[in-house]
Amino acid sequence: MRAIRGAITVEADSPEEIRCAVKELLLEIKQQNHLTEDDILFILFSNTADIHSLYPAKAAREAGFAAPALFSAAEPMIDGALPLCIRVMVFAENCNAAKHIYLRGAAVLRKDLKRFSVALDGPSGSGKSTIAKKLAKEYNILYLDTGAMYRACALQAIGDGIDLKDEKAVGAMLARMRLHIEYENGIQHTYLGDRDVSEEIRRPEVSMAASDISALRCVRMKMVDMQREIAAKMSCVLDGRDIGSYVLPNAEFKFYITASVAVRAKRRYSELKAKGYDVDLNMLEKEIEQRDRNDSTREFSPLVQADDAVYVDTSDMTVEQVVSFIKSKIQEKV
Ligand code: C5P
Repeated sequence: MRAIRGAITVEADSPEEIRCAVKELLLEIKQQNHLTEDDILFILFSNTADIHSLYPAKAAREAGFAAPALFSAAEPMIDGALPLCIRVMVFAENCNAAKHIYLRGAAVLRKDLKRFSVALDGPSGSGKSTIAKKLAKEYNILYLDTGAMYRACALQAIGDGIDLKDEKAVGAMLARMRLHIEYENGIQHTYLGDRDVSEEIRRPEVSMAASDISALRCVRMKMVDMQREIAAKMSCVLDGRDIGSYVLPNAEFKFYITASVAVRAKRRYSELKAKGYDVDLNMLEKEIEQRDRNDSTREFSPLVQADDAVYVDTSDMTVEQVVSFIKSKIQEKV
């Protein structure tokens, strides 16, 4: 017999929330450990003292776990404990190696076991990548810049002389494109074949092209597959447009980062100027508006704030303020 541990948090102390969370947790434990109903002998639950509205054991019974013996108990109120948390211990037969499952906010309890993801979405120039890099460093996890992947697709298409809106030609290009992401000293490098294109994809003309090509379904499907594959292997911060809404709808932490068009254009201007590009602020502002329109009106997986993402307007905030705000929000859920 094996003991499998698990935990999950709820948004609020309501019977419906508890039913949903207990069901999600038990089904995940069952699935990840390849258990049948008959393999489970008994299940012990404990819940933090701020949960009163339904016994998790009752929720488990209602979710169809009728065969095993079930028991719930409340934990004492401990200062600094993760609030609204349900813990479980499942005793099961026919389980070779117990796979423990920590979901939602409870993922942070056992970072060693469960990878967790931070999704940062928002329009161009909102400061996502700067913030994502800092967060990744703080939490010692990976940073995946998903925009770089769409930029690399655009660069390949420009190089191949392909019409960025021609889905058929782009589809054929995707089949031969050898895009891969490597990490060197924790820094993301984007490769097309053997060529490190990390700098080239930042060229101003690649930005607009990336916005065009990223609207194509075939491009998104391929990039999203790659992103999910990377995120499934380890904890990471991902920045993009549709991470919280489409790529990783179950990401533990989601933020929608934005700022006024004027502020975003200014930030891009300084960034590009510092790299030696000759850019015009008005043009950049227009381009940002156009990219916002493209990104948020495209049919498939547009730029959108996920329902459960925290909205952060960074127009009047320093990078440090944004990072500390996000960390405090993450901490609230921990
Ligand atoms: O973030 P960045 O400016 O590097 O992204 C370049 C373009 O790639 C964006 O304008 C957007 O059209 C596209 N993109 C996307 N989905 C993502 C990331 C970027 O559509 N997850």
